[in-house]
This record gives sequence, structure tokens and C-alpha cells, in this order.
Amino acid sequence: MPKNIYELIIIGGGPAGITAGIYGARYRLKTLIITKDFGGQIAKKAVPIENYPGFKGISGIKLIQKFKEHLENFKIDTEIDSVVKIEKINGNFKVSTENGKKIESKVVIIASGLDPRPLKVPGEKEFIGRGVSYCTACDAPLFKDKTVAVIGGGNAGFEAAIALSRWVKKIYILEYGERVVADIQNQELAQKTGKVEIITSAALKEIRGKNFVNSIIYQDRKTSENKELKVEGIFVEIGSQPASAFAKDLVEFNERGEIKVDFETFQTKTPGLFAAGDVNIGKYKQIITAAGEGAKAALAAYEFIKKSK
Ligand SMILES: Cc1cc2nc3c(=O)[nH]c(=O)nc-3n(C[C@H](O)[C@H](O)[C@H](O)COP(=O)(O)OP(=O)(O)OC[C@H]3O[C@@H](n4cnc5c(N)ncnc54)[C@H](O)[C@@H]3O)c2cc1C
Repeated sequence: MPKNIYELIIIGGGPAGITAGIYGARYRLKTLIITKDFGGQIAKKAVPIENYPGFKGISGIKLIQKFKEHLENFKIDTEIDSVVKIEKINGNFKVSTENGKKIESKVVIIASGLDPRPLKVPGEKEFIGRGVSYCTACDAPLFKDKTVAVIGGGNAGFEAAIALSRWVKKIYILEYGERVVADIQNQELAQKTGKVEIITSAALKEIRGKNFVNSIIYQDRKTSENKELKVEGIFVEIGSQPASAFAKDLVEFNERGEIKVDFETFQTKTPGLFAAGDVNIGKYKQIITAAGEGAKAALAAYEFIKKSK
């Protein structure tokens, strides 16, 4: 094997990717993890994790630190970068990144999970990092004593509001539907903070500001009237979408853009290309299932490499 070719490239540094990395290293595969960040969705979780065995009530950031420390016990290469394309050339995979790198490997595990679903309204892109946030756990302290809006009245929106209440003065939760859909426990916890005002039937239209956000415009869907709310922060909690577009030439998607795999090996329709964790069509998307799939995909990748030698 030429020196500059990896045996295994893993795309993603969440629970699935880190676990695949640990297994790849334990099986002595020449492994590279390419990821936009180490953490993925759980690093953004605002309230403690209660269902990962062995770690009762741990914060997402702490849990992922533990995963990463474990990975660092092994010798594998890592690159902080974003994958933009995967191709198959002369029997190997060529992975291209945003920073212009082209790296080859025998097999690839896609573990790129889910990205937050964007609002797609004027002002959103312009004010990212200047009032618009997709990560309450990361950004809440920046909004101390301010008034903010959480867009989305599901569990994620309410959990974000509960976490924000430690820092901010007031929180509007905007929900598109006629009623919020969060669990009753989350609704009660949010109301107990005394800082939350819920606005239903609200369609966000625009984010306004100068250097930073200073208001949002939403349409009251009952009256069709446009209304303005003075807010200095917007936390987007309207769900997520698979981070899978870079693989489009080599995999098959379902209607949601999730990658189809065979659940015995987590292989996609392209031999040697695997997909583990939230990015695939698996129904139950959790930390433990993502980690388990990362392990299984790495074991299948090892067998694939052994057979092809
Ligand atoms: C608000 C919230 C609360 C949650 N609470 C819980 C809970 O309490 N318990 C639980 O079990 N689960 C919970 N989950 C679900 C859990 O976080 C996910 O199931 C799990 O993180 C999936 O892991 P993953 O590795 O498949 O993907 P992700 O965690 O999404 O990680 C994907 C990784 O891929 C990287 N990536 C993406 N695109 C690219 C690219 N193009 N190039 C390079 N890298 C890329 C990302 O940067 C990231 O590092 C929660 C999720 C959310 C959003």
C-alpha cells in the first residue's frame, strides 16, 4: 500500500465517528478522522444526558470530552475540516475537503450525523455569530440579561429555553403550529422559570439588525398580521437534517436524505463505504445507538479490508 493512502477514513467526530476511530485503532488500521468538530450534536445539548450507561446526569460537553480522551489513547490521525465530496477512483476512495485536501483510503465510514435545519429567512446567514445561534449550550452565556427568541416549540426548543433562563432576562418561544409539541414536563419546567412567553401560530419572516440582531418579524398566522419583537438573540431549534450531501454520487438516500445501509454491516450500496449513526436510515437516533453502529461499521470495515488483501 502506498504510504500516503489510509486504510480507513472516518468522516465525523460525534459518538459514531469517535467509536469507529477507537475500533479502527484497536484493529491497527491506518486511520484518519476528518471532522468539522469533535462533539457533534451532544456537545450542543443544553441539559444533562440521563441515558448513557455509566454516566448518570452528565453534560454533553463532559461526555464527549471523555470519548475524545479515550480516542487520544490510540495513535490515529485527525483533521479538522469539512468533507465536500467522496469519489471512487481505481478501487480506492478519494475524499475532498473544504480546505482543498484530497486524501485516499481503502474504506470510508460516514458518521457525519445531523446538521441543524436552517430557518431560511432573510437575515439568518448574515447574523450567524452575531445574534443567531444553533447551539444553546455553547452560546447562552453570551446573552446575559438580554431578551432572546427560541424558534421551535418542540422538546429541543423548550430545553433550550430552560437552559437559557439561567442567563437571559426574557425568552419568547415561537411555534409555527397552533400549539407547542414539547413534553408536558418540559413545558412545566419552562413556565416555572417565570421568563418564558410562548407565541403560537407564528411564522418567522425576517431577522433584522445592524451589527447584531435587534428584532425579528413574524406573521401571526391567525390574523396574517406581521409583528415585530425586539430581541437580541435567536436560538434555532426547528430540527435537523442529515449531513449527507457530499456522498450523493455513491449512496442511495431515503426521502429525508438519510443514507440507506444494510443493517448487518452498515455498508452502503458502494462496497467499502459504510454509514453509521444518525446519518443513516436507522430509526432510533441516540448516543448509544450511534456509538454501537460506529463500532459495528469499523468491525465490518476491518473484515472488508482483510478480505480484499
Ligand atoms: C438537543 C439534543 C438533545 C439530545 N439528547 C440526547 C440524549 O439525552 N440522549 C441520547 O442518547 N441522545 C440524545 N440526542 C441524540 C444524539 O445527540 C445523537 O443521536 C448522536 O449525537 C448521534 O451521533 P452521530 O455521531 O451519529 O452524529 P453527530 O453527533 O451529529 O456527529 C456528527 C459529526 O460529524 C461532523 N460532520 C458533519 N458533516 C461533516 C462534513 N461534511 N465533514 C466533516 N465532518 C462533518 C460533525 O461536525 C460532527 O462532529 C440529542 C440530540 C439533540 C440535538
